[in-house]
Amino acid sequence: MSLPLEREEIQRITEELEVIIAAHLAWFKQLNRTLVCGGPVNHLDLEDDAHLRSPFGQWYYSQEPYVLEGTLDFQSLGLTQQSMHGSARLALLSILDQRRPAPELYDQCIDLALRVNTTLRRLQLDIIGELLTTDSLTGCASRRGMMMRLREEQERALRIQRPCCLCLLDFDRFKRVNDDFGHPAGDAVLSQGLKFATGVLRKYDSIYRYGGEEFLICLPGTPLNEAALVVERIRAGLECLPIRLPSGATLFVTASFGVAEMNARLPVEESIASADMAMIRAKEEGRNRVVLWT
Ligand code: GH3
Ligand code: MG
Ligand code: MG
Repeated sequence: MSLPLEREEIQRITEELEVIIAAHLAWFKQLNRTLVCGGPVNHLDLEDDAHLRSPFGQWYYSQEPYVLEGTLDFQSLGLTQQSMHGSARLALLSILDQRRPAPELYDQCIDLALRVNTTLRRLQLDIIGELLTTDSLTGCASRRGMMMRLREEQERALRIQRPCCLCLLDFDRFKRVNDDFGHPAGDAVLSQGLKFATGVLRKYDSIYRYGGEEFLICLPGTPLNEAALVVERIRAGLECLPIRLPSGATLFVTASFGVAEMNARLPVEESIASADMAMIRAKEEGRNRVVLWT
């Protein structure tokens, strides 16, 4: 899953899922008690729309668009939960008839209920995982998992025979921003600057917070000359971007960029080092510029 979610949103969804899981387990416990001990039957569970009326159903089928809606786990949950209520209904009808439910029916009911539980937990873990791989200040991917994803891009580039470029972005004289305007102003530069840069990138590009005020951009399927154009667009746009500081003042900043094509035969670290050397040259040549590693 890769959802750009705010920390608060992640926390809210995690808690919401915890409530749903608890409600599902309470229902499951009650159902199991009825099936094993033989009653009493909750008549709501005999209705055709029991799956809609349960707390789970009210959450799942609520009208609001939901961030998890696009995930496969969320989509499969609806069918699993509906089938679970179908089996539960049949099993409960046996109990009403003073008969024990068939073992296959009982197993099916239990398996489906456990699957609902597992899927809800997996959704919750995926959401929490977002916290580990997202930088909270800028919304960029964090360094965790970065090398693995870059190696995947390297393999893909080799497989489809298309170049992939890496770019290091380093804000210019950033220490001065902190010294002159305070640390919160520096934070505002990073968060607004990266929001802008992310907007310029294409869907399949990715951006990682590499260090304090340094970011690594990966541009798959892009030869060096095309990467130069994309990165130049970020540089030129950043230069004109009015950053609103917490004090209400407006500040303009620049950044230096080093771009290198990923070498398919060398470790990814070496291509990052090439982009870094190009970035250092951009600093030496006067900052606020894009230097290509050739
Ligand atoms: P150069 O143009 O050569 O890159 O100069 P610079 O001042 O940008 O480079 P330097 O490495 O000397 O300083 C980077 C500063 O970035 C130092 C550090 O305190 C600051 N910094 C790193 N991470 C953050 C952050 O998350 N928020 C803020 N406000 N400052 C940060
Ligand atoms: Mg730096
Ligand atoms: Mg810097």
